[in-house]
Amino acid sequence: MNSYPKYLDIQLQNVYSGIIRSIDKELRPQIIKEYKSDITVQTDSIEDVINNFAASVERAILSDDRLAKRFEQIYTLVNSWTYRETEKAIQKVKSVQKGFSVGFQPDVGAPLFKDAIAAFRRFNVSLAVELGRGHIFGIGLLAENAFREGIPTKDLTAQYRAFSGVSQRKGRFWAVDQMGNAYSSLTEQRQTFAGFDGYIWRTSKDGSVRPEHAALEGKFFKWSQGAYFSKRGRYLHPGQDYRCRCTAEAAFSFNQ
Ligand SMILES: [Zn+2]
Repeated sequence: MNSYPKYLDIQLQNVYSGIIRSIDKELRPQIIKEYKSDITVQTDSIEDVINNFAASVERAILSDDRLAKRFEQIYTLVNSWTYRETEKAIQKVKSVQKGFSVGFQPDVGAPLFKDAIAAFRRFNVSLAVELGRGHIFGIGLLAENAFREGIPTKDLTAQYRAFSGVSQRKGRFWAVDQMGNAYSSLTEQRQTFAGFDGYIWRTSKDGSVRPEHAALEGKFFKWSQGAYFSKRGRYLHPGQDYRCRCTAEAAFSFNQ
């Protein structure tokens, strides 16, 4: 019954891949131009282009209010999502158990979420900077190698495109990880606040569920502990493992 916010996951992934795309829009023509220009100054001038560009992108990302707001907005949407999911779980309990006294949960705008929103924004902005810088310096190395080997411009263009694909996938991977963490911690806060001391582990039941996660389907775990992952050597909740899209169906230990 609890479901993963897949469309928010995709929105956050698109924010990250969009960072690479907007860098490329400016960087690619500059690199190609330098590559085609006077052969004796190429490596130095490519290095200059890269260093200046990396510095300006970092400044641009750090002062980009729209990007910061977008991260806050996505976090708030995950918060609303977990609110609705928890509310459904509370109503379900109330319908089977008259006089159920637990079940209050904080509003999405409650002050207790303020720090978490700010932390999510800050951390994602810093990841965006790291992603952008990694991409730009990677392109720099690629262009310098291309120069040393004297490959044709069209080959450099193809290599550039391939590397952008790698950077975009990296950004998407980070976004999935960030979404999993936000979803997991908000679900935990809301369910425990409402009085559920545990959950039934639910997998997405699609083809990409790992055997280690599939083995947990339908089992009860406490929020105070989680499920033990022997490969990681620690206890985790749904959404906390890399790229995990499992969910936590609110439950009580006394019912197990
Ligand atoms: Zn999972």
